[in-house]
Amino acid sequence: MKKKVAILGSTGSIGTQALEVIRRHRDRFDVEVLTAHRNADLLIEQALQFVPSYVVIADEQQYETVKEGLSRLPVTVMTGVQALSEVAALPMVDIVLTAMVGFSGLAPTISALKAGKRLALANKETLVVAGALITQLARDYGVDICPVDSEHSAIFQCLAGEQPGSVEKLILTASGGPFRGMSREMLQRVTCKEALIHPNWCMGNKVTIDSASLMNKGLEVIEASWLFGMKPAQIEVVIHPQSIVHSLVQFTDGSIKAQLGLPDMRLPIQYALGYPERLKSEFPRFSFASCSNLTFEKPDEVFRNLSLAYEALRTGGNLPCVMNAANEVVVQAFLEEQVSFLDMPGIIEETMAHIAFIDVPTLDEYAETDREARVYARGILGR
Ligand code: MG
Repeated sequence: MKKKVAILGSTGSIGTQALEVIRRHRDRFDVEVLTAHRNADLLIEQALQFVPSYVVIADEQQYETVKEGLSRLPVTVMTGVQALSEVAALPMVDIVLTAMVGFSGLAPTISALKAGKRLALANKETLVVAGALITQLARDYGVDICPVDSEHSAIFQCLAGEQPGSVEKLILTASGGPFRGMSREMLQRVTCKEALIHPNWCMGNKVTIDSASLMNKGLEVIEASWLFGMKPAQIEVVIHPQSIVHSLVQFTDGSIKAQLGLPDMRLPIQYALGYPERLKSEFPRFSFASCSNLTFEKPDEVFRNLSLAYEALRTGGNLPCVMNAANEVVVQAFLEEQVSFLDMPGIIEETMAHIAFIDVPTLDEYAETDREARVYARGILGR
């Protein structure tokens, strides 16, 4: 039986690589839904190639373009943010891949969970913002969440066959990004262009900047805590510049398991889509002969975002949501050259200190927190 897949965010980095995986396994998967934020041209091209039943362009101004472009296909074209939640719950869909960026992934993810869909989760912000809510829903509706993030996929793979109580700690690896080893003085002068050149991974702009600032690792610590039910003290981050060891699990007997491979997002995407099966691939293989030097070091505290994320995780409530919102604002500002690299953590920290704390937020309160934090962070930028 072929699995029917909905790809939310199909024109982004994860989305396009997921389609590449599916193209190689057309006997296993059918694309039923494709959605994009505003990249109408690529969405049309993908739909012509994969002929899904539903296509959503979230930006309403692009609706006519997409409708026109697909007029000869038997496809339903929808628009607006609400449509994302509708297609995530369609009865025909088996797996929902959430590959959109940022807070916008939350509502469609909840919709998919409530409809009992298997989730291939690439939108880490969903768990950062509302991890308690999402993991509770997954339990209530008996849904499997398969992580797509490479570190979490590594941990997920290391945990296969292990007893739940046998884990002592998780060790997340981080490449350290393009600015690893730089002093404060050097970091003062780095530009957005330099931040966008990642040494190992090919990713979208948002996650590449987050990777350079270590916020990506901070978000991943929070993501791991929810996915695998770990306390903050049970999650360690280690810098591993070669990005070959994707993460590790240490067990209660002191034994450590690691998952290795070339840095290629298609691998974790394919594992999440195929799980529990391991599908074949022709992706390039890692060779110890050509990369014999795998190194590990402690994260440098000059990258303050990592400790901000630990603080948000320990405090809980709506604080990770505040941190995420402020981060989305400063990253956008950094991409538009309105803020310097080193000023980003300060703005996030000030926003975290300012927004009223809510211990157990409702979905509406998460949305309100997100909105307030964005307004506040933008206010700091405007000063
Ligand atoms: Mg990652």
